[in-house]
Amino acid sequence: MDASPDTTPTTTAAAPDAPSVPAAPDRPDRPDRPDEIVPGIWHVPFPVGHVYLVRLSDGGFAAVDTGVPGSAPVILEALAAIGGRPDALRQIVITHSHIDHMGSAADLVAATGARVLAGAADAPYIRGTATEPPPDLTSPEQALLQQVAEGMAAAGTPPLRHVQVDTELHEGDTLDDWPEPARVLHVPGHTPGSIALHLPAAGVLFTGDNIGAGPDGRIVLGPFNTDRDQAIASFRRLAALPGVDTLCVPHGTPLRTGAARALREATPDTDWL
Ligand SMILES: [Zn+2]
Repeated sequence: MDASPDTTPTTTAAAPDAPSVPAAPDRPDRPDRPDEIVPGIWHVPFPVGHVYLVRLSDGGFAAVDTGVPGSAPVILEALAAIGGRPDALRQIVITHSHIDHMGSAADLVAATGARVLAGAADAPYIRGTATEPPPDLTSPEQALLQQVAEGMAAAGTPPLRHVQVDTELHEGDTLDDWPEPARVLHVPGHTPGSIALHLPAAGVLFTGDNIGAGPDGRIVLGPFNTDRDQAIASFRRLAALPGVDTLCVPHGTPLRTGAARALREATPDTDWL
């Protein structure tokens, strides 16, 4: 499918009863300008679940993921710092249904009118019309998940609000208003409907949680998978993509360059065991 008809820019105002999210002022000094990891792609870091902003061909922006609930003001501030007013956010691409990826989508839609795009198999969990399947955890993952949950609670993370999905994405779709046609890859295993986005000419891959960077910078299989074997197969598929140089990972430090080697040296079969 050519997804462009479904991703028409919109400037729809927030519904009157929608919670308002304060937009950051357009400060001329822009002290919080996010890191432009490759031309036209910015990294907005969070303790749990990074967000990436992408400049679209019409001058608007897309957000890849939205952080935990409560992250919208920081995302809008980052957008302002790179020259985007709230209504310049045209698209929100959610790589999968977990709270640290879809958590602030509802607030961002209310503030910007952006359209939401997500993998078809995760769309019911994002909308809240079905309960997402729990992860099948290894022992180290159980400890890590508890640590993450405690950290989110200690940070006063607001409750999750579900959000509509305007466009359900499938394997082989392309997002044509991106800097180059972005290929949608269905990479199940972390969740049933996880997606990755591949920009072949730029050599950029948005991995979703199928791939992460560990504390030592090593590229690892993402933890908390609903189907570990399927996630490993998806990892291997992404690792075999030709010409990938930059990894936009949601957890850990993004890899500006050298992704091919890092992926070659990864050992997803034994990660988190
Ligand atoms: Zn996840």
